[in-house]
Amino acid sequence: MTFADTAYADVRDAVRTLCAGFPAKYHREIDARRGYPEAFVDALTKAGWMAALIPHEYGGSGLGLAEASVIMEEINRAGANAGACHGQMYNMGTLLRHGSAAQKQRYLPKIASGELRLQAMGVTEPDTGSDTTRIKTTAVREGDRYVVNGQKVWISRVRHSDLMILLTRTTPLAEVKKKSEGLSVFIVDLRDAIGKGMTVRPIPNMVNHETSELFFENLEISAENMIGQEGQGFRYILDGLNAERTLIAAECIGDGRWFIDKVTRYAGERVVFGRPIGQNQGVQFPIAEAHVEVEAADLMRWKACRLFDAHEPCGAEANMAKYLAAKASWEAANACIQFHGGFGFASEYDVERKFRETRLYQVAPISTNLILAYVAEHVLGLPRSF
Ligand SMILES: Cc1cc2nc3c(=O)[nH]c(=O)nc-3n(C[C@H](O)[C@H](O)[C@H](O)COP(=O)(O)OP(=O)(O)OC[C@H]3O[C@@H](n4cnc5c(N)ncnc54)[C@H](O)[C@@H]3O)c2cc1C
Repeated sequence: MTFADTAYADVRDAVRTLCAGFPAKYHREIDARRGYPEAFVDALTKAGWMAALIPHEYGGSGLGLAEASVIMEEINRAGANAGACHGQMYNMGTLLRHGSAAQKQRYLPKIASGELRLQAMGVTEPDTGSDTTRIKTTAVREGDRYVVNGQKVWISRVRHSDLMILLTRTTPLAEVKKKSEGLSVFIVDLRDAIGKGMTVRPIPNMVNHETSELFFENLEISAENMIGQEGQGFRYILDGLNAERTLIAAECIGDGRWFIDKVTRYAGERVVFGRPIGQNQGVQFPIAEAHVEVEAADLMRWKACRLFDAHEPCGAEANMAKYLAAKASWEAANACIQFHGGFGFASEYDVERKFRETRLYQVAPISTNLILAYVAEHVLGLPRSF
């Protein structure tokens, strides 16, 4: 019995039970038709899991990032993909920590009840990529509104969300002292925006991940919808990104455990040359190594959760947890597909689907190289490369 099996056992058991109602066949069929797991996300919402981080006073469960990470981990460990709904968990951080009392009162009870979904966050742009402070989408104040122009790319779950957190530039880069200044965050009501200044173009992709390009042409957003202070948005987004990286780490740990369970079972049963393939050390060692790496990544995930929930700086730990967990789940995925032989490629085994899903986390929401650059320069103090 490991800490992973005992920590937050009540949350873990309840999510496992819910997930058991949606077996692999359900997720496989949705993947094949590039659908969205509506019934699964509805069940998570009705059970209150999508409102885990919302305080009691607004109708949520008032749980911390640690519990939220267990929810995400268990979804992936059950063979599902939290990518369909994890946005609501980490987008919440920006609203919870930096939203005004009026904004929280307006949105949180409805998000908690499931009436509204906050699943989307628009940061990435086609021309600037990982260089977030150089984003070109602008929001210009005109009376009691801001007028938004620009473009975003890879913005997930917009077609299954009512609200979106949007990062824009409100002061031109040339006029700020630090490049991280002059950026502002809005909460956008997608029901008012789409077709009235905002266009959505879906991007078909390798994973069954609902993601789109967004185009803004004079989209008007009420000034009331700005979160926090004008010009301070980058700081607010970073808070949310630390939550996001920690939650993605937990999802990768869930994936890693799914792959290791699956391949351990298969290697114990598949007999070739008159003995189970798992009796060969050439098969055992990559599986054992992946297990070691998943367990080690889990320790950093708990450290990041603890610091985040204590409102202490956790940028280094959140990034390192995401780095370690994404690497570990990818190693586990490789061992799993390799030792399933040809069957690893057959959809009905679910390995190829999970393999594609976990590969994403080497690139998004932050690429492995950018994490290493962060650690080299912000943790170790090496000279800045950008
Ligand atoms: C399925 C999917 C869903 C996504 N969902 C969202 C979302 O909901 N919201 C959102 O805002 N974004 C989203 N993204 C975007 C994602 O965060 C970016 O793809 C990611 O941050 C990388 O940015 P980029 O694609 O522009 O790559 P680039 O920045 O162009 O980088 C390309 C490659 O070059 C490397 N590289 C770049 N600069 C350096 C450097 N200085 N040193 C070393 N290596 C470097 C990177 O590591 C990367 O491997 C999503 C992406 C995908 C694929």
